[in-house]
Amino acid sequence: NCELVNMFKELATQYDSIAKTEELNFITDFPSPPINLKVDADLLRHAIKNLLDNAFKYTPQGGSVKLEIINQSRRVSIQVKDTGIGIPQENLPHIFERFYRVDTSRTRSSGGFGLGLAIVQQIIQAHDGQISVDSTVGEGTTFEITLFVKKLN
Ligand code: ATP
Ligand code: MG
Repeated sequence: NCELVNMFKELATQYDSIAKTEELNFITDFPSPPINLKVDADLLRHAIKNLLDNAFKYTPQGGSVKLEIINQSRRVSIQVKDTGIGIPQENLPHIFERFYRVDTSRTRSSGGFGLGLAIVQQIIQAHDGQISVDSTVGEGTTFEITLFVKKLN
């Protein structure tokens, strides 16, 4: 069991300082009431970090990254939205595959194994959740994780 709002607030403070040094705007939008979910806190944190690391890596200086939680009683939606380079439509179906990377010449930082999103997908599947992506080249990318509140019966 894990309380999401506090966990995300702690995580966000780490990225506040990264944003400062990398000259990016980092915005958060969390609801104030606590959200208790049956999740593996370490794994979920790892998944969100992978998405935030990507958003920071693939967004040029002066851009924005937003981390948002939307609580809808039966489901919790977590969005990581950036104003970065975007992902071409033809590459989108492959980005969750292990070792898949879109043309590395697009970014200054070429590091990476192409494993981050494969791990995110594994973690979200292990929680019976969903992950989706929406992207426009030159405008930005939004990843959305949906976690379902399990009924106790
Ligand atoms: P690793 O995460 O293993 O260090 P990586 O970031 O290249 O390496 P993934 O996180 O799996 O690998 O992402 C796969 C590919 O999807 C990336 O190489 C990049 O081309 C693209 N991608 C992922 N997130 C974004 C994003 N927010 N904006 C633009 N492209 C992205
Ligand atoms: Mg990555």
